[in-house]
Amino acid sequence: MSIQTFVDQATTPLNSGYVASTPFEADNFNQVVMSTYGRFPIALERGEGCRVWDTNGKEYLDFVAGIATCTLGHAHPAMVEAVTRQIQKLHHVSNLYYIPEQGELAKWIVQHSCADKAFFCNSGAEANEAAIKLARKYAHTKLNIDYPVILTANASFHGRTLATITATGQPKYQKDFNPLVPGFHYVPYNDIQAIEAAIAEVDQGDSAVGAILLEPLQGEGGVRPGDVAYFQKLREICDQTGILLIFDEVQVGMGRTGKMWGYEYLGVEPDVFTSAKGLGGGIPIGAMMCKEFCDVFQPGEHASTFGGNAFVCGVALTVCQTLEKENILENVQQRGEQLRHGLQAIAKKYPNQIAEVRGWGLINGMELKADIELTAGDVVKAAMDEGLLLVPAGPKVLRFVPPLIVSAAQIDTALQIVDSAMAKLL
Ligand SMILES: *Cc1c(COP(=O)(O)O)cnc(C)c1O
Repeated sequence: MSIQTFVDQATTPLNSGYVASTPFEADNFNQVVMSTYGRFPIALERGEGCRVWDTNGKEYLDFVAGIATCTLGHAHPAMVEAVTRQIQKLHHVSNLYYIPEQGELAKWIVQHSCADKAFFCNSGAEANEAAIKLARKYAHTKLNIDYPVILTANASFHGRTLATITATGQPKYQKDFNPLVPGFHYVPYNDIQAIEAAIAEVDQGDSAVGAILLEPLQGEGGVRPGDVAYFQKLREICDQTGILLIFDEVQVGMGRTGKMWGYEYLGVEPDVFTSAKGLGGGIPIGAMMCKEFCDVFQPGEHASTFGGNAFVCGVALTVCQTLEKENILENVQQRGEQLRHGLQAIAKKYPNQIAEVRGWGLINGMELKADIELTAGDVVKAAMDEGLLLVPAGPKVLRFVPPLIVSAAQIDTALQIVDSAMAKLL
């Protein structure tokens, strides 16, 4: 089969009117897969654009997008073409050799951000691990700190490896996994006095703060945007002290907020930032970016077997180029406004249930009142029954992170379903 025939076949929409044939048995699944996830009782097997179908043939509007990951939705023709092209050409060799696709993707990121250099890995946690290692080496070799401490925020989320659950300021992710990685210290988010106090407190003997790691908007922690004045003051403190400012852009980067990077909302540039979720449009990839002055790694000091292979980089580059070519950031801004506006109207309708609506672009949270029994999980289940997929961000916050290609009509449908789910739950 020629490449073109293959691509033509692959890009023909397969999913319209899809009828599933295989019943899915959760019991069989649970016998062989570790139960590390609390799963909803459906199995998804097909997708197209912002819609997915379960194994019973039921259609859903997907406002989860693989947790803020499938930026171009499902089965986007540009991704199908890129995956097909790349697997036929070359998918994986090793970082023993130069990988042109990796260079092209790094060039795209450098041209579209404040960074000078990129390192590629396979996930958000790994990107943050790379940033933590870079920060420690920078502190040892450039700041002469023998015991560098990294400040992170309460209610943050940075991943599930040992170092990144330690960085994550939420005890529920750390419970039972002691001993944690030393060298982290937590502060409340958006509180500049707490940062100043922590820097003073940590500074004794061999130990001092070497880096501050924060999300521009806390995603898992409840969709909480960073405060502009706070981040600007942080930048000043870091400039004065030499402390590295690291942003975790894993969830908010790559156009999710209507700007390419979350830090653009804050008017400050980080020294180091990480990306993953949206970067590959659903293909597993992570990246750590830094400015020239803190590019301290030497050959052999950090590595990943799969990191930055031709397959993921070729596909991620196509995702990046498609974001630009199809003017998707503009859609994110407009659809984001529409969604927040609609959610605010729903919040007004249910003032005893809904506390607040907040977010940037297409990452939005609707927080339920603390003093009622209703949880975000209850609303997620009710919405799922009516054909809308949502994900909580903590027990009381509903998170809306649809594909960035979502249409105005799909936003309206989602809003109607949320309204009707809320009405049923009263
Ligand atoms: C999801 C997420 C991570 C972890 O990414 P993985 O790919 O699951 O390792 C880290 N930081 C933030 C802000 C995230 O949202």
